[in-house]
Amino acid sequence: MSSSDKMNILIVDDRYDNLLVLESLLEHMDCNIIKATSGNEALSLMFDYDFALVLLDVQMPNMDGFETAELMRGNSKTRYVPIIFVTAISKEPSCIFAGYEKGAVDYLFKPIEPVILQSKVNVFLELYNQKRLYEDQTKLLELKIKELTKLQQDNHKLQNLSTTDGLTGVPNRRAFDNYLSMTLRNSERSKKPASLIMADIDFFKAYNDNYGHLKGDDCLIQVANSIISSVKRPLDFAARYGGEEFAVILPETTAEQAKVIAENIIEDLKELELKHEYSSVSQFVTLSLGVSEIVFAEDYSMDSFIENADKALYRAKKNGRNQVSY
Ligand SMILES: [Mg+2]
Repeated sequence: MSSSDKMNILIVDDRYDNLLVLESLLEHMDCNIIKATSGNEALSLMFDYDFALVLLDVQMPNMDGFETAELMRGNSKTRYVPIIFVTAISKEPSCIFAGYEKGAVDYLFKPIEPVILQSKVNVFLELYNQKRLYEDQTKLLELKIKELTKLQQDNHKLQNLSTTDGLTGVPNRRAFDNYLSMTLRNSERSKKPASLIMADIDFFKAYNDNYGHLKGDDCLIQVANSIISSVKRPLDFAARYGGEEFAVILPETTAEQAKVIAENIIEDLKELELKHEYSSVSQFVTLSLGVSEIVFAEDYSMDSFIENADKALYRAKKNGRNQVSY
């Protein structure tokens, strides 16, 4: 143990020869002994050091041991430092109790019996050690909790980043794949239908070419938000599938019901009146949508489900755009 790790003991007596005797009795104990010859000196040392224990002479001129103890109890830094009063005066109970009222923890009587002194000091050093150990462990635990909380927050952020489309802020293709695969599993188990809408912005290339990419990005954001707000039921899930293509997964929904939702998506977007002078079907931005319902045939797969919706989308385009096909 280095001297800074060692525990400090403060010994206070107005007679220096008494201090030397005390010091020699405690010398073999593994701690730093610091001496003070008055109550005032003792108090100022307590602000500079942390003490495991104070051995405090009761009879001192100016400020006696009891007054010193009282001032210690009045200060938050020194309030809980244990005190052993060292006194030559009467062992009368009334005198001992006076010391306890000041917050004393123990008494030693002069002439000092080395074995009693050492065993009492040992008890307090052990207590102090336990307290320090406990404080260290508490600090360590707090640190670990902080680290863990930070880790959780980082994980959460990462997960959000990996499932959110950077431009529009709506779920991305990865999130779509996850949700679709979960929906298909649930649907197969419950034997309930599930439908998928694929949506594509009409003449988006012409929009981008004429208005520029910044406007194009802005258009994608508005369309994404419009689709998200059209899809209101708790289990429904809308995502950006890629480019100017969006997808909506509709658990427990037939193609008939999905068609109504797809038509709502068209209507809601129409209300936004996003100008598109380079579209041949409308003066505003419009969508073509394809709907497919999952059929649990022998060879069904997630890909065939998407393929069917894509085929329907292609038909909607071919039939003149700005419409739903299924
Ligand atoms: Mg004295």
